[in-house]
Amino acid sequence: MTASLRALLADLSRQLGDPGMDAALLGEGNTSARMQEAMLIKASGATLASAEPDDFVRLELSAALALLDDPQAGDAEVDALFSHVTTHEGRRPSVESLLHVVLYEATDAQVIAHSHPTSVTALLCSQSAERLVDGALFPDQIVVLGAHPLLVPYVDPGIELARHARLQVADHITRWGEAPRVIYLRNHGMFALGSTASEVLGMTAMAQKCARAIIAASSAGGLVFMPPDEVARIDSRPDEKYRRALLSSDRRDSTREHRPRIEEER
Ligand SMILES: [Zn+2]
Repeated sequence: MTASLRALLADLSRQLGDPGMDAALLGEGNTSARMQEAMLIKASGATLASAEPDDFVRLELSAALALLDDPQAGDAEVDALFSHVTTHEGRRPSVESLLHVVLYEATDAQVIAHSHPTSVTALLCSQSAERLVDGALFPDQIVVLGAHPLLVPYVDPGIELARHARLQVADHITRWGEAPRVIYLRNHGMFALGSTASEVLGMTAMAQKCARAIIAASSAGGLVFMPPDEVARIDSRPDEKYRRALLSSDRRDSTREHRPRIEEER
């Protein structure tokens, strides 16, 4: 139901924008949920910390993907599409909407949270940004964030960033055989891709912890990554997969029926 999805996204957004999360200030960040052939995404200008169900707009995936596929399409065409959406929905989609579209196309994510956690942003603005994707420091990092997060170089937000990320995600899937669960954007922030609101919140918090651990370990003599074979083992162990599934189950959103799913209407 659109109403329950809107309520779920508003709740997720307020938690993501809570000052205690240290993940988004003012108008920073955005959230979205997959619908059948579309997504609901935060409207431009809405604030995560005070999000209401009306702060989300519906955007057709096919219309946005057609723009990305058209090499002639640029900012003017994006503006025309977003103006069309504004006419129907009353609000304009977030400037980062096209990146969400790319991620729903390439992965099975049901919910996406984009934020700028301070420690993650600090690393992404440093010469050590690659440490976020070079290896794993501790087991829960692997369980929650996956063994292979993706780091995307800085590109101006908008259609060029979406096209760039689309290629990078495709390359990542070819290389590792699966989509990344987390995507870091250099000099910008992160995207958590999950199946529930609780999961993407947990991923954002774990990425923040991971960034803090990298910064602290760097000043305590240097990082010691876990051996790659141990990382692979934890990533594929049945008990860790079970734990990952438990972490993604939506206790905070009460029941699984609130979990946004592809089948769940428009
Ligand atoms: Zn951003």
